[in-house]
Amino acid sequence: MNINLLNAGYCTAPEHIAIHGGRWQNIRFPALFVLLRHPKFGAMLFDTGYSYRFFDETKKFPQRIYRYLTPVHLREEELLVNQLANFGLKPADISHVFISHFHADHIGSLCDLGESRFIYMPHAFSHLRHLHPAAGLKHAYLRGLIPGDFDARSQAVNLSQPKLLPAEYAPFKTGYDLLGDESIIGVELPGHARGQMGIFARAETGRLFFFVADAAWLKKSIVANRPPHKLVNLLFTDPSAYRQTLGELHTYALTHPETIVVPSHCEETIQALKTPHA
Ligand SMILES: [Zn+2]
Repeated sequence: MNINLLNAGYCTAPEHIAIHGGRWQNIRFPALFVLLRHPKFGAMLFDTGYSYRFFDETKKFPQRIYRYLTPVHLREEELLVNQLANFGLKPADISHVFISHFHADHIGSLCDLGESRFIYMPHAFSHLRHLHPAAGLKHAYLRGLIPGDFDARSQAVNLSQPKLLPAEYAPFKTGYDLLGDESIIGVELPGHARGQMGIFARAETGRLFFFVADAAWLKKSIVANRPPHKLVNLLFTDPSAYRQTLGELHTYALTHPETIVVPSHCEETIQALKTPHA
């Protein structure tokens, strides 16, 4: 599988929000998406980053507050559709999208992907489905980002069929074989958002990637086992689960230095890995 790390836009926020004891200055939080080119299933994505639709959906209050909290920067050449074109791909070529969770910076381009199957943890979406638009803000959820035929193309992870992971994934004990060929293993990373899913994917070179979405915002959070500012506990669905997940990631990273652990908004990590990985 070929793996390319890309990002569609970024937002800014003070570093000390993302990591306890961080600097007061604003830093960039790129919105990661990953292009996975699989020998059998073709082109697939992990998340999508922002799109212009984010701006359309946050024109009015209360959704506009979202923009004030996280000012978003997005250039035309960064749009998912335009970046796919750089690889000779059309949106219709994307067979599957693995959705880590339904925050707007992860699902911004779902509406551009008219042919894809959507794979996600069922409880990541079930509580959002009938949410009043005003209540969506608390969940960083914008209903307008969900395609009209989303359900018809959804393939929610079958939670009744967990897979016991071999010791090499410890401390992660169970996961889900998302394509049935063990090429993409989904694991639940609870705390940040309900049903948040990270994925393990192995590149052709043999390097194992672990995309951990927002279980940590910065790689150094994982390395130091240092959580964000307490204030952001207000945004998390389960702060104590978040802390536990971060501890597990810390243990995993410490014991598996060969795995490339990638948080979705860590600019340092993403920039360093933006070169193609076969
Ligand atoms: Zn998030």
